[in-house]
Amino acid sequence: MLNKEFKRKDVERMRNLIKGKTGESAELQVGYNTKKEDRKEGDIWEEGGKKWTIKDGIKQTYTKLDKFKKEAILPLFCPECGSLMKNRNDPKMYKIHKKCFDCVIEMEGKLIVNGEFKEYEKNIIANNADSYVKHLESYLMEALNESNNQYISERGEVERWKGGINKKEVKNKIQESIEDFKDRVEKYRNNDD
Ligand SMILES: [Zn+2]
Repeated sequence: MLNKEFKRKDVERMRNLIKGKTGESAELQVGYNTKKEDRKEGDIWEEGGKKWTIKDGIKQTYTKLDKFKKEAILPLFCPECGSLMKNRNDPKMYKIHKKCFDCVIEMEGKLIVNGEFKEYEKNIIANNADSYVKHLESYLMEALNESNNQYISERGEVERWKGGINKKEVKNKIQESIEDFKDRVEKYRNNDD
């Protein structure tokens, strides 16, 4: 058992060296596993009501990766016109509009003709800002919650949160700024000029 443990740590240390992450060690994160189970790269397990995995030697929530994967998937064909999505702008357009670049150009052309383009553009910008602030909020809250368990997935954050922060105060501050940002987005969206 000891021998096995030693080997695994050595392999991880080597991989970190190869990747240039000399200061990082997987031992620290493994140390926080309550059951001290032997986890390895790619394992998925449940702990504290969350799904976890090891990616690049770092323990992290699996749902986060899952979400990221879903966003990155691009279908082969445009759902609107059925043509093969091979234009270099297609991935970006699909992410926003769920259709290919050509279909977006066509749609925007119609909006310009009908005098609805400005309104449409404003909504795109506001939606973008909305999704940005939602990502930011969940990221910050997650980081804060994970620090309750004396555990932070990204190595650099461990020290920062460790210094005995007032979690309730930080949480309130985060929520305050998020609400303020959301308000400003809504004002922008409803502004007529
Ligand atoms: Zn299309």
